[in-house]
Amino acid sequence: MTLWYVLVFGLLLACFSVFVYVAISRATYSRLDQSLTNSTETTANLLRSEMDENEGDVTAAAAETQKLLSLGDAHMALFQGGHALTANDSSGWVISVPESAFRAAEAASGPSLSTVDGFDEEGARLAVLRVGVGEADYFLALAQPLHNTVEELEALGRIFYLAIPGALLVAGMGGLLLARKSLAPVAAMTEQAASISARNLHERLEVTNSRDELGRLATVLNNLLSRLDRSFESLRQFTADASHELRTPLSIIRGEAEVALSQNRDEAEYRESLAIVQDEARRLSRMVDDMLALARADDGRQRLNVEEFYLNDLVEECARSSQVLALAKAISLTVDPATDITFRGDESLLRRMIVNLLDNAIKYTPSGGQVSVRVTSKDGGVEITVADTGIGVPAEATARIFERFYRADRARSRTDGGSGLGLSIAKWVAEAHNGSIDLDSRPGEGSTFTVSLPQSKPTD
Ligand code: ADP
Repeated sequence: MTLWYVLVFGLLLACFSVFVYVAISRATYSRLDQSLTNSTETTANLLRSEMDENEGDVTAAAAETQKLLSLGDAHMALFQGGHALTANDSSGWVISVPESAFRAAEAASGPSLSTVDGFDEEGARLAVLRVGVGEADYFLALAQPLHNTVEELEALGRIFYLAIPGALLVAGMGGLLLARKSLAPVAAMTEQAASISARNLHERLEVTNSRDELGRLATVLNNLLSRLDRSFESLRQFTADASHELRTPLSIIRGEAEVALSQNRDEAEYRESLAIVQDEARRLSRMVDDMLALARADDGRQRLNVEEFYLNDLVEECARSSQVLALAKAISLTVDPATDITFRGDESLLRRMIVNLLDNAIKYTPSGGQVSVRVTSKDGGVEITVADTGIGVPAEATARIFERFYRADRARSRTDGGSGLGLSIAKWVAEAHNGSIDLDSRPGEGSTFTVSLPQSKPTD
């Protein structure tokens, strides 16, 4: 950034300096020409009057003119027919006037200007004017050495030569300082972000000013970290819960096998042990199935197999299959009659949801209780209600009941064979159909789960 800045600034400065130098040098030379023209004309006038006074003695007139005039560092000489009539200083030096200058002066009405070599390296600016006195034609030459002007311009050039690198150096250092200062928070943020890993995901970037770009970036990154932190946390929790849940049936299977194998037993005992092992193995595979379904749901791989079917038929079918469990506990399971309700959705997932709800209702309702299920059409959607007269859910648990592996009453659910995943799956199925699931429960009186599903075509 600084390099670009210095480059552009340098280019600008160089262009500006060249422009200024050219403008000043042009102005200086045109001023010089102007004053040389004026001096030449004044000198010519004086020379004419001196000639009158000296009665045509050119040399005397020229000498007198030179004496009277203050020409500064300009030199004057008088020529006739290409020959110098005067030497213009004590050393006898004569301005050398090229042929072309005489010719130009002959043609021109005023002084004609040119640049000639001589004096020193820099040369001189020369003005030649034809001065006619009576019959004779003289040429008056005035030469202004250029070394002062050249030196002045050189001094100006030197200033630019020194000033440009100086200005660039200052600008570069300033730019670098500014860049460092403005990028320092980015560097600090980079360092902080680099030190955050899965182990310290709870750490956050420092937000110095939440209203500038960097502050906003830090806030966005912090929000990202929070989301990551939450998913890591739930992943950790899920892994811990899953291992815990899997351990129980596994240790029962192992214990049962060890006891059965520890000594010779009769067939009935072996059968009993194997039945327990079978039970636990079933429970394990159900749990693994549930976990798999949820894992698929999480990464969006579980596609809905959408088709149209009669929802009331499905509900009745589920109730029939749960009837066995209900009968075993002497619970009356009733289905409120409904007219035909067609619905577009994933039938097998919805069956799973309804069975889960019915199984729970039967599981958490004591013998002699009632479970009823109902399906109704509601403006633009359907509602499935599963109500029981069971133990209910404590108020503090209602919010968490749909979480994975959550159980309101750990000891009781475990003996009933639940894994704590049933309601998570029910919730996911409802949401996958753009619907929702709600619980209305009073401890000791019963619970009512209501699933609301919109009739519109599900997104998947
Ligand atoms: P589980 O396999 O343990 O039944 P769920 O996810 O299906 O797991 O349910 C989570 C918890 O919610 C249960 O452990 C239980 O405490 C509570 N619960 C679910 N349904 C009911 C109900 N109908 N009545 C009372 N409590 C319920």
